[in-house]
Amino acid sequence: MIREQAVDKRTPKTIRHDADLIVVGGGLSGVCCAITAARAGTRVVLVQDRPVLGGNSSSEVRLWVLGATSHMGNNNRWAREGGVIDELLVENLYRNPEGNPLIFDTILLEKVILEPNITLLLNTAVYEVEKLGEKISGIKAFCSQNSTAYELVAPLFCDASGDGIVGFQSGAAFRMGAESREEFGEKFAPTAEYGELLGHSLYFYTKDTGRPVRFVPPAYALDDITKIPRYKRFNAQEYGCQLWWIEYGGRLDTVHDTETIKWELWKVVYGVWNYIKNSGQFPEAETMTLEWVGQIPGKRESRRFEGDYMLTQQDVVEQRTHPDAVAFGGWSIDLHPADGIFSEKPGCNQWHSKGIYQIPYRCLYSHNVPNLFIAGRIISASHVAFGSSRVMATGAHVAQAVGMAAALCTQNQLLPRDLTEPTRMQELQQELLKAGQHIPGFVLQDSTDLTQQAKLSASSEFVLNELPADGPLLPLTSSAAQMLPLPIGSIPQLTAFVTADQDTTLTVELRRSSKPFNHTPDVTLETLTIPLRKGKQDINLPFKSQLSEPQYVFVTFIKNEHIQLQYSQLRVTGVLSVFNKINPAVSNYGKQEPSEDIGVDTFEFWCPERRPAGHNIALRIQTGIRLFSPTNVRNGIQRPTNQPNAWVAKADDVNPTLTLSWPTRQKINRVELRFDTDFDHPLETVIMTHPETVGPFCVQEYVVCNDQQERIYHQTHNHQTSNTIRFDQPIETSSLTIHLKKSTSPGQADFAPASLMEIRCYRE
Ligand SMILES: Cc1cc2nc3c(=O)[nH]c(=O)nc-3n(C[C@H](O)[C@H](O)[C@H](O)COP(=O)(O)OP(=O)(O)OC[C@H]3O[C@@H](n4cnc5c(N)ncnc54)[C@H](O)[C@@H]3O)c2cc1C
Repeated sequence: MIREQAVDKRTPKTIRHDADLIVVGGGLSGVCCAITAARAGTRVVLVQDRPVLGGNSSSEVRLWVLGATSHMGNNNRWAREGGVIDELLVENLYRNPEGNPLIFDTILLEKVILEPNITLLLNTAVYEVEKLGEKISGIKAFCSQNSTAYELVAPLFCDASGDGIVGFQSGAAFRMGAESREEFGEKFAPTAEYGELLGHSLYFYTKDTGRPVRFVPPAYALDDITKIPRYKRFNAQEYGCQLWWIEYGGRLDTVHDTETIKWELWKVVYGVWNYIKNSGQFPEAETMTLEWVGQIPGKRESRRFEGDYMLTQQDVVEQRTHPDAVAFGGWSIDLHPADGIFSEKPGCNQWHSKGIYQIPYRCLYSHNVPNLFIAGRIISASHVAFGSSRVMATGAHVAQAVGMAAALCTQNQLLPRDLTEPTRMQELQQELLKAGQHIPGFVLQDSTDLTQQAKLSASSEFVLNELPADGPLLPLTSSAAQMLPLPIGSIPQLTAFVTADQDTTLTVELRRSSKPFNHTPDVTLETLTIPLRKGKQDINLPFKSQLSEPQYVFVTFIKNEHIQLQYSQLRVTGVLSVFNKINPAVSNYGKQEPSEDIGVDTFEFWCPERRPAGHNIALRIQTGIRLFSPTNVRNGIQRPTNQPNAWVAKADDVNPTLTLSWPTRQKINRVELRFDTDFDHPLETVIMTHPETVGPFCVQEYVVCNDQQERIYHQTHNHQTSNTIRFDQPIETSSLTIHLKKSTSPGQADFAPASLMEIRCYRE
């Protein structure tokens, strides 16, 4: 028994943790920062004030994780973020294609607790910052569940808390609201009437119980639905993220008024459900009930901290380059009216760029608190640029750069700003690329990688001379284009296969992107007008253009309702078809065309369709396209960009094999392999279900053999992009052979020839 005498006062139990890096906030940015840093050898404490990880993506809030892929609704091809965030999303696809938010929670928790370098404090809120001079010396936190106070001490801190609790208390310069047009020359800067802050949202889920269910609204529910100008948009089918526009608070203080905002959102949510259940307009809702209502509002915007650089609209739209680029973004600039659900205006105003844009490192630390990194939605960006950088996969990708930077600072006893020195920056960028981060325009150059000196030979090399005419025949009701990667030089002779229901004319355009690394077909090189007779026919496409740079061309079939276009079953790494359709979820109405000069581009959207649709357009390609060489596995780029950047075996190769050989025996104790998990796919975490648990391009089984043809590693259930093979004792061999095994065969649905994006080998 414990019995204590009465005393004047007691202090809570206090535990002190010393670490290299304290990460505050366990949203996706905090999680990806902590894991990246921990894997690079940094001792991390991750402090999260809620019971699970994920922030807005957790089961408490239930937002789908998005980034540059933008629901596959803009022209950013192969743009899913790499590194830890990719690992999490690919794992979620594997375990949770149904999009259950609880499963995503378990994945985040598992990945964090499996890192021996991370100390995780859940239900623990940071409430105080201590400083020594300009630097933060420690922070204080309290866990109400175990009634314990924590003193967290480290040389480096990362604020990934969304509202910037550490930045705020440590005196870091910040902004809240919107910059004027004049400050950075941003033409899309909003007026005060539109509003300067994005509000919070609360979601709800519903379910059909199969029997009538009553709903008696709580007294605080909104009683008059017509107070919501757009109330007629509500229906009994939409829930969760689909109702993102239940937004409120953009005219209030989105930090300190959060509880007020939450009550207003609850009022709206229960008022909306009352309308759906009891207005008599939705008989289909008779058997439906509320399954879940959010209790923690999803916060979109509050403080943005000032770094040595502020990302602006022009960085996003013009895709400006930066020597210290460490991550990328690609979501549209997406601003909302401050009146949110009570506004007459559309719920959002989204404008896309023609491709992904670089995010510089100088946006990721405070300019006046020397040991403070900033990550997530609070990075140094103007309100307009924040409109794009704020989404979770982008925030996570940026935070991985912070995690790696913290590791380099720890190893070399540096402060965040010290890494802007060019040699240090190069080291940071190279370490990030090794960890799977994609930095547009940057290539991994690793002299310690033994693959660079190896002779590479493959059992076969795919030549794109045919996308066989064995897929569906589909009406050309929307314009469709086949993307083909090409080297410098002439366009191969192409033959397509069509059926016309009457004599008509087919227009085929050859297009390319004005910037070779983009996939916006904004330059038309030539146009063919081809008379068709009624019936099935092969059509030759004798393009005469020359390419002066390696890039994708778009063989573009302009819509004609009298024509059906033949598609192919064959899927190939780095080869895609795209369509000029609409996707209202991301303000894609086929073409982006601002009615006034708001500093964004006019261009068309050409986007892929999701599997099981989205077949390639059947083509015969004379001379064939030879861009799938084994040497691609060491070209330093791990995804398709302006070229496929993959070794692809021939479709009929029954034992696809890649061999690395050296003139002398090598000692190897680590092999890194990167597979194609389809960086074009957004892998939304909730609501949107996915038809597969592993993408068709990903090799699931492979065997690695030494120079005696002995099996030294066998993987049977791969679904991940990145595979690291470690040997306890270095193997000695003059060759490594990787046998890839495919589970589907040519002609089967979703067959894709075996491919590999990268191999690296190390003696450590
Ligand atoms: C309704 C809505 C719709 C959106 N739509 C999308 C979308 O579709 N896809 C998308 O990717 N993004 C979307 N966003 C944007 C995105 O969710 C946020 O910008 C993003 O979550 C910010 O990431 P973060 O890690 O900075 O913050 P958060 O995700 O908010 O994570 C911060 C974490 O820090 C914790 N924390 C805060 N204070 C403390 C403290 N004192 N101590 C310890 N921990 C603390 C919080 O509990 C939280 O878990 C949307 C946002 C909203 C609100």
